[in-house]
Amino acid sequence: MINYKITPNFLSHEWHITLSFTQPNDYETEISLPNWVPGSYLIRDFARHITHINACCNGKAQPLTQTSKNYWQTPALNGAWEIYYTVYAFDLSVRGSFLSTERGFFDGACLFLKVHGQEEQPHQVEFPTLPHTWQIATTLPQISATTFQTASYAELIDHPVETGIIEFLDFEAQGIPHRIALSGIYPDFDLTRFLADIQKICETELAMFPSPAPFTEYLFLLHLGDNLYGGLEHISSTALLADRHSLPSYDMGEADKAYTELLGLFSHEYFHAWNVKSIKPAVFAPYNLDQENYTEQLWAFEGITSYYDDLFLARSKTISPEAYLTLLAQGITRVQQTQGRLKQTLAQSSFSAWDKFYKQDENSPNAIVSYYQKGALAALCLDLIIREKSQGKYTLDSVMQQHYLDWCNTHQGIPEKHWQSRCQEMTGLDLETFFQTALY
Ligand SMILES: [Zn+2]
Repeated sequence: MINYKITPNFLSHEWHITLSFTQPNDYETEISLPNWVPGSYLIRDFARHITHINACCNGKAQPLTQTSKNYWQTPALNGAWEIYYTVYAFDLSVRGSFLSTERGFFDGACLFLKVHGQEEQPHQVEFPTLPHTWQIATTLPQISATTFQTASYAELIDHPVETGIIEFLDFEAQGIPHRIALSGIYPDFDLTRFLADIQKICETELAMFPSPAPFTEYLFLLHLGDNLYGGLEHISSTALLADRHSLPSYDMGEADKAYTELLGLFSHEYFHAWNVKSIKPAVFAPYNLDQENYTEQLWAFEGITSYYDDLFLARSKTISPEAYLTLLAQGITRVQQTQGRLKQTLAQSSFSAWDKFYKQDENSPNAIVSYYQKGALAALCLDLIIREKSQGKYTLDSVMQQHYLDWCNTHQGIPEKHWQSRCQEMTGLDLETFFQTALY
């Protein structure tokens, strides 16, 4: 059993963590923190926020040797180890960690040191000293009010945690419990409409894929404030940031631009539970969180997800067909406006996400194309071509359903270039010219 006790120091924005584990042999133990968080393809070097670290074994202080920017090693000693470390937490994004007198949030990749060789042991997290008025919102499996436990390290870091004053909104979709945890500052809004819209979107996405869903419960963590926007997907939850004015007012007729964008964000991150958290590139199974994991397939995981996010708003009737076509037209315009589309292919855009898409500068519009925006258009074209060539027998839905069934049966990621070949096998169509044109 690996155990983490997490205590807050609000005024210095620091989490104090005690990591406990047993080393049964006289071996050195290696511990490390991820350099990036799955879903956000940039090396972020989270270990730079560790401001203090020391260790003891069987109650006696022991030296730790730092061996790289994110690795430490203990002396070769068996027994009960405790590692004490402090993480500075003042990053408001969905892929960081944050702590103030008002709230705490973290993505596990920012906080949990990994004990090498014990990744498959149960991992337990305790919050012994949170303020009694604070609630905890997470899909970490709960074993008491303030204690949670997962079966492995990989599972531990796939459930972000929000804590503070939280308003919970509950609904069911296809019999599966869903919850929205609202935090931050927001006005009175049309809660009934909001819940009904999100429920319709979830029902529509659940209905597209074969059962069972990748989750048995689902949690939307929605933090609201001014000029906020962002989302990060997880297997049974998502962390979202949005502007408080994007919530629907009581007198809103057809969904306005900001509310449509908010619904699109919910739709997008929810779809990721199937597309990238389940179906995924082989290089993500498992992730190597020390370094870049290169893949040409981000167009399929972000582009197809971006195609479906707005499409599901139309399918669930939360926006009108006309409003959907306007969004589509805007997407086409955005891609056509950048000269970078003539310089970079979708496969190149995916591969170089780490150092180009995620490190944009003044020349980016001239040099790169978005695997989100152009990937969504490629997905639209692929859907239309499959429908036309198969005379309506197959659609992109059929392909995504089969990819999901393949994942459920094998739990294997998709090797490079196999997304395309599998798509051709599933539909019996020759799509080589399309893939060459769209991707390469
Ligand atoms: Zn995405």
